[in-house]
Amino acid sequence: MSAAEQQVNEYYNKLLKRNAGEPEFHQAVAEVLDSLKVVLSKDPHYADYGLIQRLCEPERQVIFRVPWISDNGNVHVARGFRVQFNSALGPYKGGLRFHPSVNLGIIKFLGFEQIFKNSLTGLPIGGGKGGSDFDPKGRSEGEIMRFCQSFMTELHRHIGEYRDVPAGDIGVGGREIGFMFGQYRRLTNNHESGVLTGKGLTWGGSLVRTEATGYGCVYFTAEMMKEHGDDLSGAKVIVSGSGNVAIYAVEKAQELGATVVGFSDSSGWVHTPNGVDVELLRDVKEKRRARVSTYVEEAQGATFHDTGSIWDLEADVALPCATQNEISGDNAQKLVDNGVRYVAEGANMPSTPEAIEVFRENGIHFGPGKAANAGGVATSALEMQQNASRDSWSFEYTDQRLHHTMKQIFRRSADTAAEYGHDGDYILGANIAGFRKVADAMLAQGII
Ligand code: NDP
Repeated sequence: MSAAEQQVNEYYNKLLKRNAGEPEFHQAVAEVLDSLKVVLSKDPHYADYGLIQRLCEPERQVIFRVPWISDNGNVHVARGFRVQFNSALGPYKGGLRFHPSVNLGIIKFLGFEQIFKNSLTGLPIGGGKGGSDFDPKGRSEGEIMRFCQSFMTELHRHIGEYRDVPAGDIGVGGREIGFMFGQYRRLTNNHESGVLTGKGLTWGGSLVRTEATGYGCVYFTAEMMKEHGDDLSGAKVIVSGSGNVAIYAVEKAQELGATVVGFSDSSGWVHTPNGVDVELLRDVKEKRRARVSTYVEEAQGATFHDTGSIWDLEADVALPCATQNEISGDNAQKLVDNGVRYVAEGANMPSTPEAIEVFRENGIHFGPGKAANAGGVATSALEMQQNASRDSWSFEYTDQRLHHTMKQIFRRSADTAAEYGHDGDYILGANIAGFRKVADAMLAQGII
C-alpha cells in the first residue's frame, strides 16, 4: 500500500468513528477519497494543513424543530436541517429536500457531493444542503404552505444572498420555493431575490431553471456518447423517476431523437416501448400530482408494473433520475446484459458502489451525478447572476449557457481523468477536477 493510500485510509477510519450511523455520508466520502489517493501520490501537498480532514467536516450544521398544524387541527413536529459544508468558493449553495427518509447523514452526503459539483461548474458557489423529514405526499396545499412557513421561520436566520442560497430537491419545487420566499420576505421585510433559487418567473426566477437538471443530464450524456462515436438519435433510453429531473430528461432525450422506454415513481414503473407523451406526463405529475399508473390509463401502448424493476428493460442508455442507491449490483448486471452502454446519473448517488463496480468491469461509460446533474445548480447560479444585475435572460440564451456549461463539465472530467492516467474514468476525473479548485482556495485562505 502506498503512503497516500495509507494516509487516506486512516482519515476514512477516523471519519467512520466520528460520524457513526451515517452510511450515505460514508459512501459519498469513500468515493471521493478513493479518487484522492491518485491525487495525493502525484501532488502530496494536498494533504498539508489538515486539508482533507477539514474538507470532510462541515463548516456548520443546523438542526431545528419545525412545528406545524394539519388541517384537522393536530400539531406535528418535523425536523429541519441545513448543512453548510464548504464556502471556500462562494456562498453555500444546494437544495432543500422534503422526504420522510431525510436525516442528518443524508443531508451531509448531499452537501458533501455538492461541494465538488458546484466547483466543477466553474461558478463561484460553495456547497450546502438542507431539508426536512416532513412527508409532503397527500398533504393539502394549506398544510404544505404552513409547513414551508414554519420551516423558513427558523431557516431565514441562516441564509442570505452572500451567505447561503437554497433551492429545490426531492419534494421541493416551484410551489414550495414560493411559500418559503413569501415567508422570508415577510420576516425580513426585504425582497432579497438572490436568497433562494427556483423562484417563479415574475418574481426573480430564471427561465430554464425548471428544465435545467434534466436537460443538463442529457447534454452531458450526448457529450459522453460523442466522445465514443455515438449519439442519442435512435437510442433507447430508460429514465427512472418522474419528478423534476426525470420529466425534463425525458423531454430532452426525445427531442434529440431517442425513445424513452420507461419511467417510474415510488409506486412502480411504466413501460413505454413507443416513447413517452411528455405533455401527458407533465399533466399527471406536475398539475394533478398523481401516481404514474394514471399516465397508463390515458396513454396508448404503455403498461404499469408494480413488480420487477425498470432496470430489467432493454436499452442503450440509462438515466437514473429518482433517488440515492436505486441501482443495486444486480440491477447493474441486468442493464449490462440487456445492452446498456451509457449511464449518466440525473439523481445524486443513484448507483450503489456494487453497481459502479459492475459498470467499471464491463466498460460502461459512466457519468457520475456530481458532473451529469450539475446543470441544475449551474442554472441556479445563473439565476443569482440575473438577480444581482436585475436582469432577465431569454430561454434560448440561458439554455445555451447551460449547454455550454455541461460541455465544459464533461471536458473537465474527461481531461482530468486522462491527465491522471485514467482515460475514460469520469468519476475520477470529476472528483479530482472538483477537488483541486476547492482545495487550492482552502489552502490560499488559511486554516479556517
Ligand atoms: P422530485 O421530488 O421532483 O422527484 C423525485 C422522483 O423520484 C419522484 O418520481 C419520486 O417518486 C421518485 N422517488 C423518490 N424517492 C424514491 C424512492 N425511494 N423510490 C423510488 N422512487 C423514488 O425530485 P427531483 O426530480 O428534484 O430529484 C430527483 C433526484 O435528482 C434526487 O436525487 C435529487 O437530489 C437529484 N437532483 C435534483 C436536482 C434538481 O434541480 N431538482 C439537481 C440535482 C440533483 P414519488 O413521487 O413516488 O416519491
